[in-house]
Amino acid sequence: MTRTTEAPALDIAQFVPGLAAYASTTVRLHPRPGSPGPRDSHIGGPLAWPAAEPWPHCEAPDCDQYPGEGPGSPMVALAQLTAADFPEIAFPEGTDLLQILWCVGYHCCAEHAPCRVVWRRASEVTEILEEPPVPDLEDELPGFYETYIPRPCVLHPERLVEYPWLWELPDDLRARVLAWNQDEDEYEELSTAPGFKIGGTVIHGSAPTGLTCVACGAPASLLLQLDNGEGDGRWCAVEDRDLVYGTPEYEHAYTPTGMMIDVGPGGLFACSADPEHPVHFHRQ
Ligand SMILES: [Zn+2]
Ligand SMILES: [Zn+2]
Repeated sequence: MTRTTEAPALDIAQFVPGLAAYASTTVRLHPRPGSPGPRDSHIGGPLAWPAAEPWPHCEAPDCDQYPGEGPGSPMVALAQLTAADFPEIAFPEGTDLLQILWCVGYHCCAEHAPCRVVWRRASEVTEILEEPPVPDLEDELPGFYETYIPRPCVLHPERLVEYPWLWELPDDLRARVLAWNQDEDEYEELSTAPGFKIGGTVIHGSAPTGLTCVACGAPASLLLQLDNGEGDGRWCAVEDRDLVYGTPEYEHAYTPTGMMIDVGPGGLFACSADPEHPVHFHRQ
């Protein structure tokens, strides 16, 4: 089943001179709980991780799951994306599989949680690790760390044009938007997609603006937006409009991954000049 975003009620670029230049294509992932395979694109599913390769562990010194000796907490699979499904991702030469993991521990200093981004050639992974290690959360508060672990979800990619969040626009352009319509919520409904998506720009409150690559200073661009929910109003997929509040189907459509990322969404940002430069997670 495909998932479709309702077309905007109007194209704001027709009303705001100069905005058209800021249009970009984003790919809404529309994750839904399911059983993705280890070779598939997914959120929270099994990775095609080579059996012979050590699984990444968090060794951030401020991680409450890292004792400072031995390995820290095993990282958790956040997403796996293939070049075949997502040609718009800037895969480094010779790779066609992107794997993203992160640590679900608490990091006192982290507006950016530790994440690990691995680029591979899928055909080189012949024997897949059957049972990756999982974080030991037995002594932890129930539900605290689990909200950082996504449910396995299959994806229903949908490409659409969006415009940046209001406060990412240059001052004069933002003034023009507000002169046209002072309702920021209405602008958001017409412009920037919430939920899990690839590319485009982050939604309201999800990250500081003007991020740059720590390695080379080039502008950082949104690789993957993570969000607690998929949004409502226009952003609720047309196919999901008749679901009944309180049912599992409704929950799976509105909050498919079951994640609760603190105050709101966040994003993984990659260097716009070199995809192999470090990728960072940011939230506000
Ligand atoms: Zn950690
Ligand atoms: Zn860079």
